[in-house]
Amino acid sequence: MARRSEFQQIADLFAPLAASAPGALGLKDDAALLVPPAGQQLVVTVDAILSGVHYLPDDPPDLVARKLVRVNLSDLAAMGATPAGMLLACAFPRDCSDAWVEAFAAGLALDVVEFGCPVIGGDTVATPGPATFSLTALGWAPMGQALLRRGAKAGDLIAVTGTIGDGAVGLWAAQGRLTGLGVPEDACAALAARYHLPQPRLVIGQALRGLASAAMDISDGLVQDLGHVCAASGVCAEIRLEAVPLSAALQVAREHTHIADELVLTGGDDYELLLTIPPENWPEVEARLGPLAPTVIGLCREDDSAAETVRVLDRQGQPMQLAATGWQHF
Ligand SMILES: [Mg+2]
Repeated sequence: MARRSEFQQIADLFAPLAASAPGALGLKDDAALLVPPAGQQLVVTVDAILSGVHYLPDDPPDLVARKLVRVNLSDLAAMGATPAGMLLACAFPRDCSDAWVEAFAAGLALDVVEFGCPVIGGDTVATPGPATFSLTALGWAPMGQALLRRGAKAGDLIAVTGTIGDGAVGLWAAQGRLTGLGVPEDACAALAARYHLPQPRLVIGQALRGLASAAMDISDGLVQDLGHVCAASGVCAEIRLEAVPLSAALQVAREHTHIADELVLTGGDDYELLLTIPPENWPEVEARLGPLAPTVIGLCREDDSAAETVRVLDRQGQPMQLAATGWQHF
């Protein structure tokens, strides 16, 4: 059977994902038209993922598409933005089947609906190399109210949403490295799902506008990413290992195999939010978020160039020596 042409692919698989955005013009024009809502600022981010680097070559195509969407929406969440649309550049390997592309588009379709974020444009090409996808996400935030990395002050609480370390241990689960160790299957499945399908914390990011002094999403490891907030804000940080929230699945996995604290602290792919919150705002954070309120793991301190920027205290209250702080791309 002949493969779909580029134009057939757009018409059959991608144009339906633009249906809820009149400004996307059915993906039939040269560009999309957007009208910013009154008083809102455009928030734009882009992230690319590559087969064999950011996802496993055998990962199901629908999950690859959804991870691509979610890592980008996680950046919008970190800014306190509401998703408005996405632009997608796809480089499919020459031997990629129609079925793979169809499943990829079906995954996109699920998240277009789940997050109210239509595809408003894009491009598809064939590549002699590994599959590569780049997604540009657009969002809105009330003028001047987007959350930034640079507002943390000494004395602010440091908090994280959800649980930490599931992305890194979830990669082990997805690779089958937890199989045969006695880790219950539901724990393996829960961890693999956390690796494949991160949950962008959009509602939390939006709710914390005006309350958090700084925010970012944790993509490359808690300690390294906290270092980025500290550098942007001109503060140091001290966090307690004991306070870092772990999922039930990770705790169960830990009963059956060694999972180093270091992996939890420095592994990537969690896509939770890292927040700093002035203590006087904490009661309002709890009031707005209830059970979704983040977990406090430490405090911002005055910048003291003699000490390391991010200090992690172990269960005995002693500073931990970490060989690395997070994922290095280069
Ligand atoms: Mg980010």
